[in-house]
Amino acid sequence: MSDFYLLTDDLTSGRYDLTVSPAWRMPGLQCASCGRWTANGHLRLDLPVPDSVREIRPVPVPLDQHLALASELGEARLSPGTWIGPLSGKVENVSGVLPDILWQGNAIPLFKTSVLRNLSKLDLPPFYGCALDDVDELYECPQLPHTAELSDQSFESAEPECDACGRKPAVLGKALSLVRGPEKAWPMFRLKDAPSQVVASAALVSALKSFGVTGISSVALGYE
Ligand SMILES: [Zn+2]
Repeated sequence: MSDFYLLTDDLTSGRYDLTVSPAWRMPGLQCASCGRWTANGHLRLDLPVPDSVREIRPVPVPLDQHLALASELGEARLSPGTWIGPLSGKVENVSGVLPDILWQGNAIPLFKTSVLRNLSKLDLPPFYGCALDDVDELYECPQLPHTAELSDQSFESAEPECDACGRKPAVLGKALSLVRGPEKAWPMFRLKDAPSQVVASAALVSALKSFGVTGISSVALGYE
């Protein structure tokens, strides 16, 4: 049995189209060295949006402006495109019964609050409510730490890190394995080098299965 599992949509429960967006997001970065980019899977739902940046249009900004924005939010560094503040969204085209966990792509999971109550004995990372139109029950999105790293073999290709902004372009392969686990015993987390991937411990996966939670699929990760 593996220690860690990649979590994704199970695609067999009731189907739906989920569109979720944050109150605000960091603009993309226009790096003088490596060009224009934005990251996926970085969420800081715990950060408030300062009034001074709320109106900035989401067009890519140069590195100095990016760092100034991060500093204004009280952070030394935030990835371009990081989602900031509370989430809201809508569920459309529902067919069948909505599952306990909804996904936007395989990157943004929303957990039904009743599932979290069942899991409350586990030391889970903080969760933040997400207001969904036309859905009675509250769903919440986890604020997951980016804390474990993949092995080199997990990537089909990878480029050197940009000296100026720290970007490290890489393409994931089909079989993923961890080379370094989470820095503390997080039951759920994201990966430093593949931020949109959501990983759970064996204990959390086992608890989700024991409660019959729907809307989630788990694939064992290797460990090198
Ligand atoms: Zn760069």
